Amino acid sequence: RDRLRQYDPEIFEAILGEERRQQTELELIPSENYTYPEVLAALGTVFTNKYSEGYPGNRYYGGQTYTDVIERLATARARELFRAEHANVQALSGAAMNQVVYYGLLQPGDAILAMDLTHGGHLTHGSPVSHMSRVFDFHRYRTDADGRVDFDEVRRIAGEVRPKLVLCGHSSYPRELDYAGFKRVADEVGALTMADVSHVGGLIAGGALPNPLDAGFDVVTTTTHKSLRGPRGGLVLSKAEFGKRIDKSVFPGLQGGPHMHTIAAIAVALKKAAEPEFREYAARTLANAQALAGRLIEHGAELVTGGTDNHLIVVNTVASFGLQGREAQQALEEAGLATNKQLIPDDPLSAQRTSGVRLGTPAPTTRGMGEAEMVAVADLFVRAVRGKDDADEVKAVRAEVQQLCARFPAPGPISAAKS
Ligand code: PLP
Repeated sequence: RDRLRQYDPEIFEAILGEERRQQTELELIPSENYTYPEVLAALGTVFTNKYSEGYPGNRYYGGQTYTDVIERLATARARELFRAEHANVQALSGAAMNQVVYYGLLQPGDAILAMDLTHGGHLTHGSPVSHMSRVFDFHRYRTDADGRVDFDEVRRIAGEVRPKLVLCGHSSYPRELDYAGFKRVADEVGALTMADVSHVGGLIAGGALPNPLDAGFDVVTTTTHKSLRGPRGGLVLSKAEFGKRIDKSVFPGLQGGPHMHTIAAIAVALKKAAEPEFREYAARTLANAQALAGRLIEHGAELVTGGTDNHLIVVNTVASFGLQGREAQQALEEAGLATNKQLIPDDPLSAQRTSGVRLGTPAPTTRGMGEAEMVAVADLFVRAVRGKDDADEVKAVRAEVQQLCARFPAPGPISAAKS
């Protein structure tokens, strides 16, 4: 660190600033987390120097003794943790991991049935603005008036378009998914099944939510940096019969050299996720979401679907506080609470404005916060949005957020953050 400080003070200062921000603000964005110091240590290593195209025992470059060790460990840990017959750990991100599946198991032009982005799905599930939507024929199911997956609609569209792949998974759906229900629809039309569990991957690993592989899904993808608390990356978990096609789809299909420093860090995070403490973490993340949602409802907030079964909460800020999501996000940020503006089902506002914000409990739970703190956070949330035009109130809320954060430090290089 000293060498970086001396050589490139601008970058060093920005890193320190971000460390300080993460310590003194409360991260409530449900897709973010604070990773382990051990993961950060594994990321910053000489593995970044190494090319290792191919797979353990079969690479296109020499010098692979240690890359093979870490990749074998990472894949074995992923298989064991998720009860998967096959695991690929090389995808560079969540977007890449999903493309790997589409290209590996389907032909261009094939129909895919996935959740609508504005109803909780993800950009990489064939949103019209994504490149994938030009390659594959995506069709979208939406949620019903209560904000829940509408299986009648899923079945109706599946019957009409006969998709090759039924895809479920979300980035802002606060309810449990009925994997068996999706599998039934897919079986009826002879489609493969894929679940992108990026948001809840850690909660599945920790045994707090069901695993789609247990319901007979063909492929499960998950990012490694959300509730799983690892570095940024993606896992593709599948039945053995798809393993070769998935591996070829990652390399040489989509990517070149894997990022071995990241794979080392993924291996560390997977080891952590197999510890008994991680099961507790997953359970506490859910209990905290219940406490946070319950208190927001007591304050009169309107939540999409009326609550949550997982780690995330979508607040309709227009209905609750007369504020667009963008304004609410801004007010919360000024008070030290990081959230993100979020479209709600059939949102009349644009993605830049939105009618809601999304928040979640993976990061505060990592800080060690419990249900009592979630009640306090809900109170601060409501004060921040209601008092956004009162400078004294904003200052007071921010001071309380900082005190709370100081009582529950985030894991990481804290000493540097204080310097
Ligand atoms: N899939 C889901 C469900 C996600 O929530 C995300 C990220 O927000 C991704 C895929 C994409 O991951 P990445 O940002 O690593 O490309």
